Amino acid sequence: MNKHVLIIGTGLGGLATGMRLASRGYQVTFIEKNDKAGGRLNQLKKDGFTFDVGPSFFSMSYEFDELVKDCNIQLPFEFMELNPLYTVHFSDSERKFYLYKDIDKLASQFADLEPDFKHKFNRYLKKCEALYNDTIDIVIKQNFNSTAHYLKALVQVNPQHLPVLYKTFWKQAGQYFQSKEVRQIVSLIAFFLGRTPFDTNAVYTLLSHIEFTNNGYYNVKGGMYKIVEGLVQELKKLNVAFHYDTEIVDFESSNGQLTSVIDNTGKKWLADTFVINADAALFRGRVFKRKKFREAKLDKMSWTMGYLTFYVGLNKKLPQVEHHNYFLGGNYEEYSKDVMKNPGTLEKPYYYVNVLSKLNADCAPRGHEALFFVCPVPNLLFKADWSDKDTIIDSIIEDFGKRIKEDIANNIVFRMAYTPEDWQDQFNLYKGAGLGLSHSMLQIGALRPKNYDEAFKNTFYVGASTVPGAGLPMAIISSKLTTERVLKSDALN
Ligand SMILES: Cc1cc2nc3c(=O)[nH]c(=O)nc-3n(C[C@H](O)[C@H](O)[C@H](O)COP(=O)(O)OP(=O)(O)OC[C@H]3O[C@@H](n4cnc5c(N)ncnc54)[C@H](O)[C@@H]3O)c2cc1C
Repeated sequence: MNKHVLIIGTGLGGLATGMRLASRGYQVTFIEKNDKAGGRLNQLKKDGFTFDVGPSFFSMSYEFDELVKDCNIQLPFEFMELNPLYTVHFSDSERKFYLYKDIDKLASQFADLEPDFKHKFNRYLKKCEALYNDTIDIVIKQNFNSTAHYLKALVQVNPQHLPVLYKTFWKQAGQYFQSKEVRQIVSLIAFFLGRTPFDTNAVYTLLSHIEFTNNGYYNVKGGMYKIVEGLVQELKKLNVAFHYDTEIVDFESSNGQLTSVIDNTGKKWLADTFVINADAALFRGRVFKRKKFREAKLDKMSWTMGYLTFYVGLNKKLPQVEHHNYFLGGNYEEYSKDVMKNPGTLEKPYYYVNVLSKLNADCAPRGHEALFFVCPVPNLLFKADWSDKDTIIDSIIEDFGKRIKEDIANNIVFRMAYTPEDWQDQFNLYKGAGLGLSHSMLQIGALRPKNYDEAFKNTFYVGASTVPGAGLPMAIISSKLTTERVLKSDALN
């Protein structure tokens, strides 16, 4: 009989692992705390509006191609390449910067701000590309069986990159560019990792290569949730079962094997193999009650920022706003340094605005627009009280109106927000940290919570807080690494 795998959580990492295993003949069952699949890659549909709840674009589209090839299926959704990648607005200028992948088009916007931009940018990208090429297979796409194994891999990385390890993203950008605008635009991507350019290692400048030269950014026709709908449909063709509104809270084990997980109603779920897509650190602490991951220990780990996200339905069109936009304040440095510690700075935040209805007309009623705002904020370790959320949101909406020269406050027909508390409660994200554990040097590779369990031989993990880390392409890579573990373990038994 085929082996039965129980996957706890239907985030992208869980769904992709389920696809890989079900297509190899495993009998797969999913258990999900919420009433629908997707985890953070989710959707909100209300009053004729459709919003992406979390991710609104992704890089490394070839990881999705690898997944479907591995499972012998066609891509069950349609990529839409973003061009420009996004726009950036500064508070002290009326100019809108378009982030084109075409370096000539990009350079033409910086001629007056950064002399010799094209040459400098190409030099910067060359270094980012070298960092990417020299680490992607050795460090990111590999399973490590021990710290020694990891250190051995690190030693293989070209030693020319060593000085980068001692710098922050911000410092590295500063070595190539002098103008405030270019440094801020180039380092903005550090926020995508859930921290700031001031506490993110310069090794992650490799993301600039991914962004500009390697693959760019993509959205999905019909909205990002089509990824989830497509994968669930493919899984159902393989007779995979989904059980929603079911939260795992306890377990039973015997002889070094997990024998069952127990849900919030007391029901026991049995399987041969268990894959945990819930947060790999939190689940070990809260459900498996491991001392190394108890609350006091979790608090000492480095977590990403929280997100204040809000979803706004507007009864008019905003032709002057692009699909994918960043609005930066005049206090980039102070804000970045303070964001985790000084909630007062939130009155002048940085925020991202996505207009889903620009690319997908049916995501809003005719003549309307669906806006999704994301503002990086302190997680609950640094700001526990979110009773001021409406004040913050009002201030962002007011600022947005000023920037686009159109007050939208009176045109809002739908508005809903998720604070870090909501992210925590809905998806079991520890302290509402939007991307899970941060990618500090002490929390990556073999130093991140492992994708195999320390005590139970038949238990594995997949997703943002295990290897390799956060983001949609990383969830796909994570599913590949976890599948390798499951297959290897079965081959041995
Ligand atoms: C606001 C926001 C914006 C983002 N934007 C982007 C972006 O633009 N591009 C990008 O690439 N990435 C983005 N990300 C990151 C991306 O969403 C995540 O890295 C990715 O979706 C995580 O997938 P995962 O596999 O780790 O699972 P998750 O999405 O975390 O799913 C885990 C699932 O497990 C369930 N679960 C948890 N505990 C239990 C339990 N005990 N029992 C049963 N079920 C349980 C949860 O309900 C959830 O459904 C964003 C994240 C956020 C929060």
